Amino acid sequence: MLNIVLFGPPGAGKGTQSEKLIQKYGLAHLSTGDIFRANIKGGTELGTLAKSYIDKGQLVPDEVTIGMLESELKKHDGAKGFIFDGFPRTSAQAEALDALLAKMNTEITMMLALEVEEEELRKRLLLRGKDSGRADDQNPEIIQNRINVYNNETTPVKHFYTKQNKYKGIQGIGEIDFIFEALCKAIDN
Ligand code: AMP
Repeated sequence: MLNIVLFGPPGAGKGTQSEKLIQKYGLAHLSTGDIFRANIKGGTELGTLAKSYIDKGQLVPDEVTIGMLESELKKHDGAKGFIFDGFPRTSAQAEALDALLAKMNTEITMMLALEVEEEELRKRLLLRGKDSGRADDQNPEIIQNRINVYNNETTPVKHFYTKQNKYKGIQGIGEIDFIFEALCKAIDN
C-alpha cells in the first residue's frame, strides 16, 4: 500500500494537491477537515462538537478525531492506499495512526510536507475565505490562531516522521502543477 501523510500549515495547498494525487495514484482521500465540515453540514452530534473548536481555530480533541479517523479507515477496506490530509496534527494522533495502520498490516510510506511561509499563508487563507464560505478563513484572528496552533501543536509531528526517516519537505510556493510534479517525483523515487 502507498500511504502518504500530506502535511503543511493551513493554506499550504494540501487539499488542492490531494485531489491531484488521488487521481494519479488511485488512493483514498481522508481529510479530517472535510469530514468535520460534512458532519457540520449534516447536523450530526460530531459536527456540533467539531464546530465549537473549528470556529475558534482550535484543534478538535485527539480522542474525537482519532475515533473518527478509525471509523473512516474501516469504510475504505480494500483501498490501494491513503492520502491523509490534515491528519495527524498532534504527536498523539501520529502514534495512533501508526497503531491503526499496523493493525491493517501496513504503515505510512512517507510524509510529504508542503513548505510555505506565514505571510503567504495569511494572504492565501483570506483569499480562499472570499470563495469558500469557510468562516475560519475569513477572520484574521482565527487564521493567526490556526497558524499558531500549527506551530505549537502540529510541528512535533514533523519530528515524529523525521525520526522514522519518512519526512520529505517540498517547496509549496509556485505553480500548482510544478508543486504537483515535485510531489510525484518524491513519491516515484
Ligand atoms: P482543515 O480543513 O484541515 O484546515 O481543518 C479545519 C479545522 O478542522 C481545523 O482548524 C481544526 O479545527 C479541525 N481539524 C481538522 N483536522 C484535525 C485534526 N487532525 N485534529 C484536530 N482538529 C482537526
